[in-house]
Amino acid sequence: MEKLFDVCVIGGGVVGSAIARELSRYRLKIGVLEKNLDVVNETSGRNSGVVHGGFAYDTGSLKARFCVEGNRMMGELSKELGFSFLRCGKVLVGNSREDMQNLERTLKQGQENGSRDLQIIGEDRLHELVPCAVGKFAMYSPWSGVLDPFGYTIALAENAAENGVSYFLGREVKGIHPGEDGIYVIETSREKFAARWVINSAGLGCGKISEMLGISDCRVIGSKGDYIILDPRTGEMLPMPVYPVPSNTYMGIHVTNTTEGNVIVGPNAENVTDFSYYGVLQKNLDYLAESAFRIWPHIKKKDIIRTYSGILPKWVDENGVIQDFRIEIRDDIAPRAVNLIGIESPGLTAAVPIARYVIELMREREKFEENPVFTPRREAPLRLKDLTEREMKKRIAEDPAWGELVCRCLKVSKAEILRAIHNPLGVSTLTGVKYRTRSMMGRCQGGYCQMRIVSMLEEELGLRETEIRYDRENSYLFSGKVRDDAPESSGDPENRGEGAG
Ligand SMILES: Cc1cc2nc3c(=O)[nH]c(=O)nc-3n(C[C@H](O)[C@H](O)[C@H](O)COP(=O)(O)OP(=O)(O)OC[C@H]3O[C@@H](n4cnc5c(N)ncnc54)[C@H](O)[C@@H]3O)c2cc1C
Repeated sequence: MEKLFDVCVIGGGVVGSAIARELSRYRLKIGVLEKNLDVVNETSGRNSGVVHGGFAYDTGSLKARFCVEGNRMMGELSKELGFSFLRCGKVLVGNSREDMQNLERTLKQGQENGSRDLQIIGEDRLHELVPCAVGKFAMYSPWSGVLDPFGYTIALAENAAENGVSYFLGREVKGIHPGEDGIYVIETSREKFAARWVINSAGLGCGKISEMLGISDCRVIGSKGDYIILDPRTGEMLPMPVYPVPSNTYMGIHVTNTTEGNVIVGPNAENVTDFSYYGVLQKNLDYLAESAFRIWPHIKKKDIIRTYSGILPKWVDENGVIQDFRIEIRDDIAPRAVNLIGIESPGLTAAVPIARYVIELMREREKFEENPVFTPRREAPLRLKDLTEREMKKRIAEDPAWGELVCRCLKVSKAEILRAIHNPLGVSTLTGVKYRTRSMMGRCQGGYCQMRIVSMLEEELGLRETEIRYDRENSYLFSGKVRDDAPESSGDPENRGEGAG
């Protein structure tokens, strides 16, 4: 017998999690089906983390509308859900007459879209705002900002779970069959689910899910962007993102401060057909560094600590022209199925307005009763590095785990790792701990703390070494012991058999 839900949301990225959280305001039985083992393994954890102002999108488009709305509500959302957000502003720098014309056009479009307080500034003001930025002039957007994309997505998902939403991780949707009783049967890589409503929020998988629903006119292409991450100490020199002048379809290679103090450089844009390849080529890294150097000449090889990439799902017409977000219910083909196609940038900024729009479409067709016990608040995870000395002493006296540093680079305590391991979504991967605590993200990239965290996962969750996964379904870290006489795990990395690594 299938598990029966009022609503099954397919995809637990930032958009799916925002939809689940907003739906939990109503008395509904909601399930999120996510193929990965966590909610931030795809596009929602692979982006610039910029809260866009909304000036770069065509006036009247859903992208413009939801971006401006998302930008406005981000301060309140970050307080409510406890994730890091900085309303630091952003500049787009230019040098030529053509650049100025483009910036003036962008500013006018932004004003029409409702972006606030945009202004063209001269070189002196630019240098007051970002001392090292290179440009003769700039457009300044004071209401733009940056957020922690991992923290934001996880916060939405955890708040949804706290409000009764069930998360089913490691469930890839393989087929959707409308039953005669008006209930969809959803086949996954494990069990079957049944739901009155289906929401396709599958990001890069949106085209496939759409086909499963019988909607076959969604042409989606992938655009891959690579990034370089610089050492956290570089963040002191970059108080806000610096962008070049954008084209109609591409924001250009920019340098972005992060809420954690790193600087990220990227992305390039390359059309791809493989939506699962995230490798980064050296030639692309060189290109990123050279391009970004022209607007922020502070990029040094020795500061590069990691690379990553992300892929945008873009909905295009038959001529390959990029379209707006497509969010619809096709009553004629798949009633009670909401189809979200091409949720590319600014999907992170726009996630909650997108979610509210989805629910508006559903409520035009069905009455939902309010959930009287919905709580919009989720407690922010406490972080050792943010505590005053007094608070630190108090915490350590109450619980010695606060006094034990696991990640030395970013000062993450054992207490924080334990909280992350026992997360409400039941995520048990190594990156699950990484994305919730920032451990393994500092200069040494886990060289010191990774094995200690593996031991804690084993101990706390009762897992064997061979059961620990890095991030995805088959990403096992260990295949077994290399010596028969190697001791069983003691939980203490200093006291392991040689073969444990
Ligand atoms: C390079 C880059 C830079 C960006 N920069 C910004 C930015 O600065 N600001 C901004 O606002 N936006 C930005 N974006 C856009 C933003 O990241 C995305 O719009 C947003 O993350 C989309 O969220 P999502 O939940 O739709 O997709 P995802 O995060 O991809 O979530 C979809 C989920 O569906 C799951 N799934 C797929 N198929 C199935 C299936 N068959 N069964 C079950 N689950 C399935 C996937 O595993 C995934 O977890 C950027 C994107 C990229 C790639």
